[in-house]
Amino acid sequence: MRSLQMVDTKTQYLKIKNELDAAVLAVLESSRFIGGTVLDDFAQNLATYIGVKYVVPCANGTDALQIALMALDLKPGDEVITPSFTYIATVEAAAILQLQPVFVEVDAKTFCMDADAIEKAITPKTKVIVPVHLYGQAADMERIMAISKKHNVYVIEDNAQAIGCDYTFSDGRVVKTGSIAHIGCTSFYPSKNLGAFGDGGAIFTNDDALVEKLKMIAAHGQSKKYYHDVVGCNSRLDTVQAAVLDIKLKYLDEYNAARIKAADYYDQAFRDHAGISIPYRAAYSNHVFHQYTILLNDAKGTGKSRDGLNQYLAGKDVPSMIYYPVPCHRQKMFDSFGGNSFNLPVTDWLSERVISLPIHTELDAEQQDFIISNVIDYINSN
Ligand SMILES: *Cc1c(COP(=O)(O)O)cnc(C)c1O
Repeated sequence: MRSLQMVDTKTQYLKIKNELDAAVLAVLESSRFIGGTVLDDFAQNLATYIGVKYVVPCANGTDALQIALMALDLKPGDEVITPSFTYIATVEAAAILQLQPVFVEVDAKTFCMDADAIEKAITPKTKVIVPVHLYGQAADMERIMAISKKHNVYVIEDNAQAIGCDYTFSDGRVVKTGSIAHIGCTSFYPSKNLGAFGDGGAIFTNDDALVEKLKMIAAHGQSKKYYHDVVGCNSRLDTVQAAVLDIKLKYLDEYNAARIKAADYYDQAFRDHAGISIPYRAAYSNHVFHQYTILLNDAKGTGKSRDGLNQYLAGKDVPSMIYYPVPCHRQKMFDSFGGNSFNLPVTDWLSERVISLPIHTELDAEQQDFIISNVIDYINSN
């Protein structure tokens, strides 16, 4: 059996090595390392894939979120509604701009922002809602966009974990996540569903005015060469990364299908075990399984804990991860933003029970059987 990893980027690379090597070498030969047609072509191809008018490439997913917020002309203290049950970057991007994170509860089944909680958290200072499509499944975007319209606030989708995910509106319309809100943000961190050979990110929008601001902010606030209109930052996607991503984009649907197949296999094995809750699949979204995250529900009387499973698996050389052990509102980083004053029992409950098993494009049945039997051995042990 090949050794187990949370993500196997090496085997994925080897499968299309010739194609990727040639693309990288062509960039080296051209020595066009910043910008150029390779970058523009990738941005265009990604825009077509996501179904948006514009893609602004940038240096990473965190920058994408920060630049998106910077484009909205916000003032320090303006409120940004976000989940606490997310990767730190979602909230950090707001905090670094001195915006006030307003943490809201997530749905216990989808792990994504609870639309009712959003509506309750709206104040006259609310300017933006940042839903996160956590683990590869969409937040309830139809309701979130309705709330945004009613209260006249922006929505920025954090699509870092869900690239390629399909959202279905109640009228049957199917669109890609990241294309629904005013702005969408994504990350090409190597372990993401569309991963580069280093850092990368992108911002999506259909808005003609916003795209000009986004581009300007990502390029030192520059309106034309050496004329700088606003304070921006320096955030570029390297041309080498664009070359890699343009090739991997062609395989993205195949990659996501492989993740879904692996998730189905896990579901089948775990479905009937009382101590395990398998990932819930919402009717309005497919799930592209950036993570395969189960709940170890000791409330069901098994006495088996998530931390116990994590340790047991480590002893069997089966990797597993806790995404995320400390919710954002309890991170020291947000003490000065009053993080601990938020009462989020579902978020706390989940952060004590979630555990993610290896899922990636290269998992085979032998590997999965080994992982599954170890999980079940732990659940059934005395
Ligand atoms: C990975 C990730 C980010 C940040 O992306 P980077 O490219 O690492 O900066 C933001 N939000 C979520 C939900 C993520 O998973």
